[in-house]
Amino acid sequence: MTRRLPATLPEAQPAEEPRMSEIVRTTLTTCPYCGTGCGVKAETRADGSVTVAGDPDHPANFGRLCVKGSALAETLVADGRLLHPEIEGRRVAWDEALDTVAERFGATIREHGPDAVALYVSGQILTEDYYVANKLMKGFVGSANIDTNSRLCMASSVAGHKRAFGTDTVPGAYEDLETADLVVLVGSNLAWCHPILFQRLSAAKVARPEMRVVTVDPRRTATAEIADLHLGLEPGTDVALFAGLLGHLERAGARDTEFVADHTSGLEAALEAAAPFTDLAEVTRVTGLAGADVAAFYDLFAATEKVVTVYSQGVNQSSAGTDKVNAIVNCHLLTGRIGREGLGPFSVTGQPNAMGGREVGGLANQLAAHLELADPVHRELVQGFWNSPAITATPGHKAVDLFDAVADGRVKALWIMATNPVDSLPDADRVKAAIAACPFVVVSDVMASTDTAELAHVLLPAQAWGEKDGTVTNSERRVSRQRGFMTPVGEAKPDWWALAEVARRLGWGEAFAWESAAAIFREHAALSGHRPEIARDFDISAFADLSDAGFDGLSPFQWPRRRGEAAANGPRRFFADGRFFTADGRGRFVATVHRAPRSTPSATLPFRLNTGRIRDQWHTMTRTGVAARLSGHIAEPFVEIAPDDAERLGITPASLVTVGNGRASVVVRALVTDRQRPGSVFVPIHWTDRFASAARVDALVAPETDPVSGQPESKATTVAVARFAAAWYGFAIGRTVPERIDGDYWARARIAGGERVELAGLVAPAAWSDVAVHLFGDGTSLTSFADARAGRFRLAAVRDGEVVGLLYVAPEPVEVARDWLIGHFEAGPIAAAEAVTLLAGRPGAEVEDPGRKVCSCFGTGANQIRKAAAAGCRSVAEVGERLGAGTNCGSCRPEIARLLAEEEHVVTPVAAE
Ligand code: SF4
Repeated sequence: MTRRLPATLPEAQPAEEPRMSEIVRTTLTTCPYCGTGCGVKAETRADGSVTVAGDPDHPANFGRLCVKGSALAETLVADGRLLHPEIEGRRVAWDEALDTVAERFGATIREHGPDAVALYVSGQILTEDYYVANKLMKGFVGSANIDTNSRLCMASSVAGHKRAFGTDTVPGAYEDLETADLVVLVGSNLAWCHPILFQRLSAAKVARPEMRVVTVDPRRTATAEIADLHLGLEPGTDVALFAGLLGHLERAGARDTEFVADHTSGLEAALEAAAPFTDLAEVTRVTGLAGADVAAFYDLFAATEKVVTVYSQGVNQSSAGTDKVNAIVNCHLLTGRIGREGLGPFSVTGQPNAMGGREVGGLANQLAAHLELADPVHRELVQGFWNSPAITATPGHKAVDLFDAVADGRVKALWIMATNPVDSLPDADRVKAAIAACPFVVVSDVMASTDTAELAHVLLPAQAWGEKDGTVTNSERRVSRQRGFMTPVGEAKPDWWALAEVARRLGWGEAFAWESAAAIFREHAALSGHRPEIARDFDISAFADLSDAGFDGLSPFQWPRRRGEAAANGPRRFFADGRFFTADGRGRFVATVHRAPRSTPSATLPFRLNTGRIRDQWHTMTRTGVAARLSGHIAEPFVEIAPDDAERLGITPASLVTVGNGRASVVVRALVTDRQRPGSVFVPIHWTDRFASAARVDALVAPETDPVSGQPESKATTVAVARFAAAWYGFAIGRTVPERIDGDYWARARIAGGERVELAGLVAPAAWSDVAVHLFGDGTSLTSFADARAGRFRLAAVRDGEVVGLLYVAPEPVEVARDWLIGHFEAGPIAAAEAVTLLAGRPGAEVEDPGRKVCSCFGTGANQIRKAAAAGCRSVAEVGERLGAGTNCGSCRPEIARLLAEEEHVVTPVAAE
């Protein structure tokens, strides 16, 4: 459903085209997307427009923003926002909605006990929201049934850190990636998923060419463009690779004898567990890597003191994720390479506030302030501080288990906040059915219409980025403010307020009586320093007495900041002194054993399915999907498949492909590429039923989890791949396109002033004009070219003298100059007389077809970059000088480098020079 906003929300403008009225307010805030946590400067002008730029003083990004951050203002659009509370689709006042939530949750607790209710929250919410949610559930409801979509993101890192360090501590700082001599990126497509961190790393490599970068990933992603060595290992074999490294380091004499003796325990057992990989041949057999590559990596690691190992979803999203983390950490403990400048293990989180959620105990097996649910002293500390009636000692359901509990009726009332589990959880169709059958479901969201919101009994409108106030913590433990600079739309409220109002109605008003996010932050800070004799890593008690004005002006800081402690001069790190938070104060080696992914390829399901992100979209596209600029890069769901596999299956580039298994299937575009390992395929996670006919890839993912962390294995499901036997393919652009498109295959994407749609069908329709009317509406006159025997049709729909839609149909994937056509639509109204020109589908020889969009900021296409290469550009920088491409946010630099490489021109470093 599309809703119009009241006049309080200004029309957003692209960052590069600001209206030139006077700036009336500048607000420093933080990007709401990835865990890099970039500082954003939002400028509000007198005419109400907003422009964004990087905050030059923010220590995460020093003024840079990637394409998603650069396009933030374009996502501040009116359409689609949830404006008012609703019960069963009926608009109600906040009081009625909150009364209903409190009554139903209260009745369920009274009748079935506290474990019959649950909260499922998100790494998108602010720390203050998270704190209140956790306090309500664990301290007052008396259940730990609160989990978060961060379980899907970094729970294995949390578990691995706790096993090794005693606490969930990321020891280092971003600066370490710049000062290291070797950076190993394991299961991390930093270039697309943490673009500004990637740019910092790339720039450091340009400045110090002797720096080495190794990428460890089954896919050769954009990140590998800066790698000196890429290790494209078999999915799920990281433990074998790092167990082999541990043994190699020991034999090579790289052990830091003093550090290991004085500050660690468990080495012998870890070495014994690693013994099967003493023989390099065994490592190569399991990982599928070339022996020379593995040996080169091991020698490089052994010989380099300053090593940072970055790990992300490729490590975490695995049924052996926790062991993978510990296999990596073991190598850093053995060499004593932890806690000092330029070295250490480094988990980078996917979401903007995964770390903040960890700080407040947002996971079902954690307590607030990095304290332990299982520890009675910790429980007593928190319960005493909260003065709460109950505190649970039993861990709640982790995400996958939580929805099992919803499915079988153990959980009867569920509140989902800022996340879309119908699309994002493994076995997503089963999750959808579970939510649909749940007796009472509350959804708090910014958007009115998501696949999850459709199933809610009560909808609560949440404040969006630009409206809400609070803090987030990035991957290097840096707490930054998100600040509101716009009037909240409709009746949108902060999530913490809705939670506190329900708590008050349940009889706990005194403990939930905050007036502001600042008051919650003070309480959170005070709890972190309460009873300091109980040692823990997370402590921000220096801010326990922060004034409201101090909160307003709070500068980004890295924790810990203990009471009375002054701000650090430079990055803060943990464990350089060899003191850990385990019972004996020693860092623990963990004996890790290689285990293959749970699902094994078979004759019927021969491929491994890897899932992940693309450069310009975020999660289920509820926000980034509204920005035309962000849809320009990749406008359609796709599957990456290796050339040999594609050929064997009769799959040609740009044809359609079915990827499926017993759980579900998706239909996606074939991207045939040698970046993909034979036997594996990759499908992105972003497309939902709002944007494509069948592309909810998580419906295919098996609900297999890591036994320690509970994190699902999202990168190794087994699937079958086959040609989608399309009888016809279509491409359309329309000023307006219906919310629900009919057809066997469709995928839609926003363009400025309309939408683009890819189409296909198993059977040709009786009349193509019917398709055009369905897409572009009645009351149009149609101009068409048709070659019925060849199955080719082209239609232009004209209304009131203007072209309002174009449809191109062919028996094979439609070959028209999409970006050229879109450029016409985006330039403004098109006179009917131009229809004939546009129906040609491509420009005449005198006009350049820009080709597939590569640089979203400057709208530069692949053809333009190739042409620049042919004209003599030999580096990313030279392409930038000529075309501008890559000189704004820089997210496209790896792709420019790859295009130059494909043209067999010399490629110089990816970073800006
Ligand atoms: Fe936002 Fe991009 Fe920075 Fe991530 S790297 S925080 S998405 S601007």
